[in-house]
Amino acid sequence: MQWEFNLPVKIVFGSGKRNEIGKYIDEIGGTRGVLVCSASVAKQGVADEFVKNSGGRIKEIFTDIRPNPTTDNVDACTALMRSCNADFAVALGGGSPMDCCKAAAATVNGNGKIAEYHTGGRRIDAAEAIPMLAFPTTSGTASEVTNISVLTDTAKGLKAPMNDPAMYPKIAIIDPELTLSVPPAVTASTGLDVLSHAIESYWSTLNQPLCSACSVYAAKLVFKYLEKAFNEPSNKEAREKMAQASITAGVAFSHPRTTGSHACSFPLTNIYGVPHGEACAFTLDYFIKFNAQNADANGRIAALAHECGFESPEEMANEISAMKKRMGMRSRLSEIGCTSDEQIAELTEKSMSMLMERNPIPLSKQNILEMFCALR
Ligand code: NAD
Repeated sequence: MQWEFNLPVKIVFGSGKRNEIGKYIDEIGGTRGVLVCSASVAKQGVADEFVKNSGGRIKEIFTDIRPNPTTDNVDACTALMRSCNADFAVALGGGSPMDCCKAAAATVNGNGKIAEYHTGGRRIDAAEAIPMLAFPTTSGTASEVTNISVLTDTAKGLKAPMNDPAMYPKIAIIDPELTLSVPPAVTASTGLDVLSHAIESYWSTLNQPLCSACSVYAAKLVFKYLEKAFNEPSNKEAREKMAQASITAGVAFSHPRTTGSHACSFPLTNIYGVPHGEACAFTLDYFIKFNAQNADANGRIAALAHECGFESPEEMANEISAMKKRMGMRSRLSEIGCTSDEQIAELTEKSMSMLMERNPIPLSKQNILEMFCALR
């Protein structure tokens, strides 16, 4: 086995660490910054706290970002950064604000529009980027440690990831207190995203030992603490453990990436508006059973299931199905309005991305069609 591991992001973890933002701005040499966050987080007063603690170095706040950010959102964010000559950026939020900020900060000095890079084939020149700090407010995407930005091109109706080393934040500051206000449905969905990262990276064809160790650590925490965070939103211990799970799962999938469940999530979100984590978990339990049928994959999946306290992959998959139900997450296509043969054919077609190639069992279009028919 041969592998490499390189994660050029400094990670800082701890309750209250957000208040030290001034120190982190010093570290990246920022003088004029833009804070990128969702409107709901800005309303809670956290954004004002950030501006104050930046010692006046955050000059503007950008909040015009929809969940699953669009190329238009990124262009507007870039325009604001350009208009105030920003030399650093701060992302505060879930995956949506972080991905918007990453794409804008990485291309701000490039004089172009993000679609040129996202689907147009233009490469990012490192000199186009300004440094960025990332403060996640959900325990989910781990976008704060990846070089990925998932954007929806509204003109093309296409949600797709773009990646480039220039999109790594310089410092990821994980302050679990920022997640205390996350509503239960978002806690459930984002927490299931963490579980998908942990499990999919573990069985990815690109799996490697350091990442696999992180997958096990993260999955165990999710099984133990996700429902506690869902049922008791102000439980600090549960929030802290889920934040640990999220960042560890981020390291877990940083190199192996994700596979079938994430591939299927994109059209479930794009066409039917299913939130990202819920969309990833929609097929996760099915894929566990499907992949466990393969002798080689079964060895690894059974090992992961045992580490997490289950007798078999099937028992782990059944527990995930039950958890989803207990937290009100959907698992049947009929629940999201996808019922006709034509709709299922479209969902199948749009699920077939290169992520499928990393699944431990090669997946054909027929396999995916059969899965969606079974989940009708
Ligand atoms: P999100 O950022 O869209 O947030 C979901 C909702 O929760 C929003 O309404 C937001 O305002 C609210 N919210 C966030 N934090 C809150 C808080 N502390 N208190 C109250 N409300 C809060 O959701 P997400 O799941 O974090 O991110 C999803 C996006 O990230 C998708 O576009 C997905 O494709 C992308 N993603 C990116 C990566 C990556 O590596 N870049 C990985 C996985 C997913």
